[in-house]
Amino acid sequence: MTSPRVRLRAEIEALVPYRQGKPAAADAFKLSSNENPFEPLPAVLEALASSPINRYPDSSAWELRQRLASIHGVTPEQIQVGAGSVAVLTQLVLAAAAPGDEVLYSWRSFEAYPGIVTVSGATSVQVPNDAQYRHDLPAMAAAVTDRTRVIIVCSPNNPTSTIVTLDEFVAFMAAVPQSVLVILDEAYIEFVSDPSAVRGIPLLADYPNLVVLRTFSKAYGLAGLRIGYAVGAEYVMDAARATSIPLSVIELAQRGAMASLDHEDELLERVARIAMLRDQVWQALVDQGWDVPKAHGNFVWLPTGEATAAAADVFTSHGIVTRALGEGIRVSIGEPASVDKLLRASAEVVRNLRTGHSTPGLD
Ligand SMILES: *Cc1c(COP(=O)(O)O)cnc(C)c1O
Repeated sequence: MTSPRVRLRAEIEALVPYRQGKPAAADAFKLSSNENPFEPLPAVLEALASSPINRYPDSSAWELRQRLASIHGVTPEQIQVGAGSVAVLTQLVLAAAAPGDEVLYSWRSFEAYPGIVTVSGATSVQVPNDAQYRHDLPAMAAAVTDRTRVIIVCSPNNPTSTIVTLDEFVAFMAAVPQSVLVILDEAYIEFVSDPSAVRGIPLLADYPNLVVLRTFSKAYGLAGLRIGYAVGAEYVMDAARATSIPLSVIELAQRGAMASLDHEDELLERVARIAMLRDQVWQALVDQGWDVPKAHGNFVWLPTGEATAAAADVFTSHGIVTRALGEGIRVSIGEPASVDKLLRASAEVVRNLRTGHSTPGLD
C-alpha cells in the first residue's frame, strides 16, 4: 500500500534535479563543471584556518562589500553578496518576478536559469541562440512583453563560450524598457581578452535597471566555498537582501574571498594561463574540423547534435569527463596534462561523425 503524500507544488515536483558533473574516475580529468584546476593559494588556506566556526558569520559581509565597492567604484550598499552568484541570481529573480510574470533569457544558456525561474513561480521565455551559438539580442528585445520582469544576459555564455559585444549590449539596453531588470551574468568575465566584449560594471551609471553578477567560483578558484555577488542600484540590492536566506554566506567564504582579493595579481596570472591554453585548444579543434565557436570562457562548446551522447562516451573512454547538454558537449579547460587526452578524444569523435550518418557540428 502506498502511503498518502503531502501536496507539493506540481511545477516543483516536475523539476529535474540539478545535475552535478559526474564524479570522475580516479585517473580521469573532471572537465565537466568549469572549475579552476589550480590548488588554492597558501594565503587563502591560512585565512580559512583562522576563521572561527563556533560563531555566526557577519550576515552583511560588510568588510568584503567595502572591499568590492572600492574596487568597482560603487557604494557598499550597491553590492549584495550571496552563497555563490547563483544564490544572488535567485534572490534577484524572487525579488522581481512572481506567478504571471516572465523571465527572458537566451537558450541554450546556463542550466540553472530554468529551475530558478520555476521556483519563483514566473514563466521562462527562452529565445534561441543564433546560428553562431550567440545570444540573439534583437530577438530577445523583441520578445519583451508587458509581463517581462527580468532579462538574463550571460556573457561569456555558458555553455557556448560566446560573448555579447559592447555595441550589441548598448543597442539592446536602448530597446528594453527601464522598468525591466536586466541581469548581466559575468561568471567568466576574467577569462575574456576580446576588447569588443561588454563589461557591465562601467555601464551601471548609464543603465539604472542593470545588475551585474560576479563570482569567486571560476577565476578565483573558490567554487567549493560558495561566494559571489551582484552590483547594481541600492534599492534593487536591498530587495535581493530581503529575499535571501539569512546567514548563508559563511565566514570562511568571506575570508577566502578577501584573501583572494589580496592576491588578485597571482590569481589573474593563473587566469591568463588558462585563457592561453583555451585558445590553443580552440585552434586545435578548428584544425580538426570542428565548428567550435570562438571560446571566451574557461571552456569550449562542441556542437555534436544528435551524436552528443555517443560523443560524450568517447570522451569518457579517453579519461575526459565532459558535460553533455542536449545538442552539444561543454568541455572545461583544466590541467595542461588533460589537453592531449581531450584532443585525442575529439579527433576520434570527428572520425566517428565523418564515417557515421549525421555530421552536425562539423564543416
Ligand atoms: C558557474 C556559473 C555561475 C557561478 O555560480 P556560483 O554560484 O557563483 O558558483 C554563474 N553563472 C554562470 C553562467 C555560471 O556558469
